[in-house]
Amino acid sequence: MTRKNMMAGNWKMNKTVAEAVVLTQDISNQYDPRWEDVDVVLCPPFVDLKPAKTVLDFDKVKISVGAQDVHWEPEGAYTGEISVPMLKEIGCDFCIIGHSERRTLFGETDEMVNKKAKALIAGGIAPIVCVGESLAVRDAGETEEYVCAQVRAAFAGIDAVEAKDAVVAYEPIWAIGTGRTATPEQAQEVCAAVRATLADLFGDETAQGMRVLYGGSMKPENVDGLICQPDIDGGLIGGAALKASSFKQLVEACL
Ligand code: PEP
Repeated sequence: MTRKNMMAGNWKMNKTVAEAVVLTQDISNQYDPRWEDVDVVLCPPFVDLKPAKTVLDFDKVKISVGAQDVHWEPEGAYTGEISVPMLKEIGCDFCIIGHSERRTLFGETDEMVNKKAKALIAGGIAPIVCVGESLAVRDAGETEEYVCAQVRAAFAGIDAVEAKDAVVAYEPIWAIGTGRTATPEQAQEVCAAVRATLADLFGDETAQGMRVLYGGSMKPENVDGLICQPDIDGGLIGGAALKASSFKQLVEACL
């Protein structure tokens, strides 16, 4: 089965609205019709989503927007939170959940990730579920066990039909923002284990259709070795997504 590669830029807490409009316009200006063969997704901060989407719609380019987080309740007394219907209304197609920064800095648990995944799927937004091990877990030789347990927890109570459009991003914590990338072999090994877990949960056909991304200091200099791995279907990009020129090179490495 051929899967459509995905390049998703996680802008994290970077770019004011004015700056986000400039970066989105810069990326849109680089757009080439060949990009239609890749799912290109920009994930700016919440306040930038609508302005970014407006630029992309105006330019009629096939680039999606995604959020970096969401709350699982549709509305209510949850100060500071954003709901699935709010994201849906402004045209978000994807939403990152379980990013390691949210897990480690903001106490996001596997249970919360699971609730968010269910709410997103019910609301018609594809979750990008982040999983990944710390250096201590890797050094203890427990990477696959740890990462696959995160995958199982994220998809608990979700069936194959519901899961089929979800994306998993394998992001070793020790490689995020550190300049240290997993070798293509290390990344492939874990992404293959993730896919085997998805097959166990949802059957082989569904698992073969789901995208598994790599994230962690992916950049133009190392993308080629990663993207050609059989179980790596693209990237979740932090730093290198903040410049149109490097993001373009990452997208085009998928073609
Ligand atoms: C990320 O935060 O999802 C990420 C992969 O960041 P970076 O590319 O900067 O390592």
